[in-house]
Amino acid sequence: MPTLEPVIGLEIHIQLKTKSKMFCGCATHDSAVAPNTNICPICLGHPGTLPVPNEQAVRSAILIGLALNCEIASHSKFDRKNYFYPDLPKGYQISQFDLPVAAHGHLTVSVPGPGGRTSVRIDITRAHLEEDAAKNLHHAETGKTYVDYNRGGTPLVEIVTEPDFTSPAQAKAFLQELRLIARYLNISDADMEKGHLRCDANISMRQRDAAGAIVGPRFHPKTEIKNLNSFKHVERALEYEIQRQTKLWESDAPPAESTTRGWDDVKQKTVEQRTKEGSADYRYFPEPDIPPLELTALAEELRSQIPELPAARRARFIDEYGLRPEDAAQICEDKALSEFTEQAFSELHAWLKALPELDDVQDEIMDKEKTRIAKLFAGWLLSKLGGLLADRGMAYKIMMPGKAGSGYAGKITPENFAEFITLIATGKLSSKSGLAVLGKMLDDGDDPSHIMEDLKLGKMEDAGALADIIDRLLANHPEEVARYQAGKTELLQLFIGLVLKETEGTADPKLTANILKVKLES
Ligand code: ADP
Ligand code: ZN
Ligand code: MG
Repeated sequence: MPTLEPVIGLEIHIQLKTKSKMFCGCATHDSAVAPNTNICPICLGHPGTLPVPNEQAVRSAILIGLALNCEIASHSKFDRKNYFYPDLPKGYQISQFDLPVAAHGHLTVSVPGPGGRTSVRIDITRAHLEEDAAKNLHHAETGKTYVDYNRGGTPLVEIVTEPDFTSPAQAKAFLQELRLIARYLNISDADMEKGHLRCDANISMRQRDAAGAIVGPRFHPKTEIKNLNSFKHVERALEYEIQRQTKLWESDAPPAESTTRGWDDVKQKTVEQRTKEGSADYRYFPEPDIPPLELTALAEELRSQIPELPAARRARFIDEYGLRPEDAAQICEDKALSEFTEQAFSELHAWLKALPELDDVQDEIMDKEKTRIAKLFAGWLLSKLGGLLADRGMAYKIMMPGKAGSGYAGKITPENFAEFITLIATGKLSSKSGLAVLGKMLDDGDDPSHIMEDLKLGKMEDAGALADIIDRLLANHPEEVARYQAGKTELLQLFIGLVLKETEGTADPKLTANILKVKLES
């Protein structure tokens, strides 16, 4: 018996964060303004008006194309896609047909699953520019439909993938990574709830035999599920379609033609809509009012401006800072938080480098310290500070130097956070008091050593307390002490480890090593 496998391809619209619309000078759609105010003769399609492409939108499309490893067209053009609907005043949409800005790319995403994470590579068919349609508002009380043209002409990048996904979880992971890339590139807020990121999901099934070979045609007629506007809807709608199509296959009546469906979130099912037009129905033809785009020079310029993307940043945080993969992933989900982490770590590393003068064991100590600091850092940033923020109904909008004021909720600078972690790591501040100090840092923006003075806190900064602990430990390990004194000085590491364990990582390793040496060698 062959098994059935889902075949999924996505078409994604990303609304670009440009100042003005795609082909006119109107401000881009903002839900805060009254309907039909951000409009002009061009985006209303009055006869005789001429569209002019928005350079920022072209740059954005090239940037996302490059980030998705696409080839950027040296020669690209706009085309008219003709159809009639009240939200389309010109009777056509300016889009791109055969010469999109970008094509032939790929993106590898990490997908969570029951057996851990797996990597999957998805090929990108194309990324092209187009203008958005206006918005029809159906008024339930009057039964009338109103049209708001504010959104008409807003720049969109449409990204089309190859049918490479084999599960809803893969599709969701891809969308989430794409959202993050758009945010790192700063081309869109890519918020699905606000409609900045919209997804049509195409799905069919195919058969494989026991050896894994495809049985019958590689592709079968598909269902296109339109206008999915949350990650959850994408996943649910695809899962529902898999069930629905599986039943059809099992009753020997697989879908005979491609159809279009919509997701009904109340009924939790997909429902059939009109059957889809082929591209012939759109009578695409070149937009005669816009000259072709020559993009080679611009693409070269932008290639050198691509910022570090989330995947590279996650890998670097793991490698350079010693963060655990799950912590690095959580931090990099938020670009501002990843920048905060970056700055805090550069402070911490300056401190780490100044740490032990223990010649022979320095490298090992450094490695262990790196891991220990990274764990402390992530724990305090993600769970403890996260908790304090949640208590206050705040998000991770931490004050960054040079960006102060502009709506940032927290008052913790990377420098102060690094100092805080140092205090914890060296045992000058206990975990328990640490929470109070961090809370005050968050509320008042003061630096941690000031707060500690105010609160009359501070622990183990005197060598006396640490020396007592060390005396006790050495007394409990007479054999190891004897071996050390007989010349096995590598055992210093073991003792340092024991002290750190005993003090729950709060003792200063340098101070510990010094005290240990004095005690063991006297
Ligand atoms: P259409 O005829 O609908 O324009 P395209 O070939 O342009 O189809 O593909 C549109 C989207 O549908 C792409 O994301 C593509 O990967 C996906 N797709 C194409 N064929 C299939 C199929 N048989 N099953 C699932 N997805 C498909
Ligand atoms: Zn306009
Ligand atoms: Mg198509």
